[in-house]
Order: sequence, then structure tokens, then C-alpha cells
Amino acid sequence: MYKKVDQKFDAALTSAEIQFEPVNPEVHSLENGVDVVYTLAPQLEKKPSSNTEAGTTTKQSPWLPPDESLLVETLDDYSVVLNKYPVVRNHCLLVSKEHIPQALPLGEEDWATAIELLRTLNKESKTRHVGFFNSGVESGASVDHKHIQFVTIPEDFKPFPDTVKDTNDDEVYADNRVPFAHFIRNVPRNADADDLIFRYSQILGELLTRSFKTEFNKKTNDVHYNLVFTEEWILGVPRTKAKTDDGISINALGTIGMFLAKNESDLAIIKEKNLDLVKEVGYPFEKIEKHAPDFSGYTLY
Ligand code: AMP
Repeated sequence: MYKKVDQKFDAALTSAEIQFEPVNPEVHSLENGVDVVYTLAPQLEKKPSSNTEAGTTTKQSPWLPPDESLLVETLDDYSVVLNKYPVVRNHCLLVSKEHIPQALPLGEEDWATAIELLRTLNKESKTRHVGFFNSGVESGASVDHKHIQFVTIPEDFKPFPDTVKDTNDDEVYADNRVPFAHFIRNVPRNADADDLIFRYSQILGELLTRSFKTEFNKKTNDVHYNLVFTEEWILGVPRTKAKTDDGISINALGTIGMFLAKNESDLAIIKEKNLDLVKEVGYPFEKIEKHAPDFSGYTLY
């Protein structure tokens, strides 16, 4: 699969089906030990903005059907396609064959196919990838057709949920070094789709709770959130806005500190505010309440 992605990418580059200019990600460790990556990608200015206005998604799907020159593989109910406007090489997407709205939750088939693709990409490329899913217009999603995206993680970058290895928490938890509301759930090695669905629903429960506790649910039916996942964890981040007050778009990658700047002035703001930008487009950090009942003082039989 990875070879196909790689070859298709080169072919699409040659035929100019893809607009790609290599970039230099700059990895930086914040004082509290959280890693961030800054990428200056001027090509983002050239990306058509018709479908990326904040608060809207395009009604026209680019994947009905997918463009042959970007199509990597056809699976039963999905296609694997290349991103037409990639910032990193081999940025690919798993898209449903039929039109399914992006705001619907991920189902068992979605998880089964996405985790298999992620594991295959990791194994075959010998580099680590993240999967991500922007759901709801305020999450930064620009296309209203179910799609899960995959990119490689820069080699020397450790996304903050990697600390999952150091916790024994077998529940949803949050990392208090991070200023915005988020929910992390560990994923055991070789977890199957059933298990992933269970962990994902726990995160969804927290995302719903956070949005029901605010006025936000009065203006939308959807839960607006970013999801990022690796073979080791799933991260969920509730969202209220697609762009920061300075007009910087934040999607799922921003929630793990992988920031994209389309010009030097955005880059300067990103470097100054870092993860506080995600707080601006989401909710402030809150400790996660444990929902398990407290049986202390009772005799259990
Ligand atoms: P999102 O913005 O999270 O909804 O992700 C949609 C992705 O699809 C974006 O990264 C776009 O660059 C990409 N995209 C937009 N149009 C096309 C297209 N015609 N073919 C392939 N990818 C596309």
C-alpha cells in the first residue's frame, strides 16, 4: 500500500495533478516539555478557498468519484486517495465510496479500515503516521464527505498524548500541561474495531458533555471536534470555532501541536501563542471528572 501511495504521489506530481512544494518542519520543545512543530507552507495561500470559508463546507464532493490520478486503491466501501493540496509528501485520505456526511460519527467499518490502513502505512514505510478526522464545520473540516486523513509524523517529534505510555490510567484522561480541553484514551496493541469503537465512544461522551455544558449546543446539532489517533492512543478535542481570532485555521493536526502557517506573520503568531491557539478555538482545560460511582462506605457483595 505505501509503495502505491508513494508511486502515485510521484506520478501526480509529474502530471501536475498535485500542487506540492516541500517544506521544512521545525520541531520545538516548549518549557513544559510538550513538543510542537511549526511549518511555513506558503502554498496554502494558493489553495482554493471556496470550500474553506470558516463555518461552511463544500456541498460538492471531490470524491464522487475520486479523480483517477489521485486514486491509490479501491476497497469494498472506501477509496484511498491522495490529497490534492498536500503540505507533506504522501498525505492520503480514506474516503467513503458513497456520500456520507462528515459530521456523522465513525462506525465500526470506518475504524476497522482506518486502523488497518494506519498499521500498514507504519509498517511498510517504517515511519510513524497519525490518522485524523475533522468533524463538524467548526473543527476545520472543509469537505462534507466522510474522510479520514493520514500523514507521517516528523521523526524527532513526540505528540503530547505519547505520555499515555507513562500512565496506568485505563480511562479517558487529560494532560494538564496542555491549556485546552481534550480527552485521551489509550489503545492496546492489536486492538480490534470493537475495542476502538468502545474507546472512541468514551471520548465522544466527554465531547458531548463538554458541549452540552455550554451555550454552544444552542446553535448547532453537530458535535464539532477533532480526532487524532495513532496505534497507541486516540485524542479528542471539542471545538467552537474553525479559525482563531487572528484568522489562523486550526485543524486536528494543530491539536497535537503540528501547526501550519501560510505566511511569516501567521508563523510569528503561532510561535508566540502555541497551544493557546487551540484554547481559542476550543475550550479551556478542565480536569476530567471520573464518572464511576463512589462506593466508599458501602459494603459490596
Ligand atoms: P478537511 O479540510 O479536513 O475537510 O480535509 C479535506 C482535505 O481534502 C483537504 O486537506 C483538501 O486539501 C483535500 N482536498 C480538497 N479537494 C480535493 C480534491 N479534489 N482531491 C483530493 N483532495 C482534496
